[in-house]
Amino acid sequence: MAILSIRNLVIDYPINIGTVRAVDGVSIDLEKGETLGLVGESGCGKSTLGLSILNLLRPPGRITSGSISFDRTDIVTMTRRELLQMRGRDIAMVFQNPLTSLNPLYRIDRQFYETIRRHEPNIKKKEAIERIASVLDSLGIERARMNDYPHQLSGGMRQRIMIGLGLILNPDIVIADEPTTSLDVIVEAGFIDLLARLKRNFNLSVILITHNLGLVAQLANRVAVMYAGKLVEIGEADQIFKEPLHPYTKGLICCVPNIKLDQEQLEIMDGNPPDLVDPPSGCRFSPRCPEVMDRCRIEAPVMATFDKKTSAACWLYNTVATT
Ligand code: ADP
Repeated sequence: MAILSIRNLVIDYPINIGTVRAVDGVSIDLEKGETLGLVGESGCGKSTLGLSILNLLRPPGRITSGSISFDRTDIVTMTRRELLQMRGRDIAMVFQNPLTSLNPLYRIDRQFYETIRRHEPNIKKKEAIERIASVLDSLGIERARMNDYPHQLSGGMRQRIMIGLGLILNPDIVIADEPTTSLDVIVEAGFIDLLARLKRNFNLSVILITHNLGLVAQLANRVAVMYAGKLVEIGEADQIFKEPLHPYTKGLICCVPNIKLDQEQLEIMDGNPPDLVDPPSGCRFSPRCPEVMDRCRIEAPVMATFDKKTSAACWLYNTVATT
């Protein structure tokens, strides 16, 4: 059974010129121990979806309908108290910018200590320090660095501290939103090793939100592709990279530079994602789609499952849909 189950989720941001429907009818399951890469261009609704799982939407965002079940409990209807208990302990978030997420006035040990104490108010300081030290060990950071302030650490170290703060309560699920955006390639490689090790050791489930498909190819078991608030394709990562179905997924994969392929020129997808206050009718990708048909401009395609367990919402494949 899935550890997290999102069903028909709709998230709106009411603004003065209308409503931005940032997530529109998305359903996704996350299994224990798997890494799901959530990909798509900027503005497609990835971060909104990630934040909603912790019920942490930024105002004026609100969940209009749908459910998010963790361990058979619907996060959407949890009380404030239940949410505070759940965050960090069951599901943790690693944000993209460590400098704005770490408190510059606290030493690293205090940032960890406060997080632990919020959930275990009676923990002895000595036990907490031991736990912090062992997380720092697994992150490859010397224990003594827990006495430093954030500004005394390198960017890569700060990012690892953010990951450590996400893991200190041993959660079941980590949601990592663009975790490597501020890292150089060497530190990014270290992050990839670290996450793979932590997944082996703790059987963590991870939702990796990123537009970096290279990172997804290295870390994810499954991939979910979002376009303009809709889920357009989801399936096994190997299969999607080998044989993407949706023209948008194909476009995203073709845009990735491949050093081994001696590509002279990258194929760039034309245009931009639509305005979500007034998205195009039919398939939202139809104005940019190289394989567009008349039907696509009128009718919105439904998600269907095809060979090798890939599901896609595209009229090109509708005739061979199995479900
Ligand atoms: P992504 O993570 O894929 O870049 P986001 O979830 O950040 O996408 O944004 C999805 C849509 O929601 C975008 O159109 C964005 O402008 C809109 N949006 C995000 N946050 C807010 C907000 N606080 N107020 C209004 N609109 C927002």
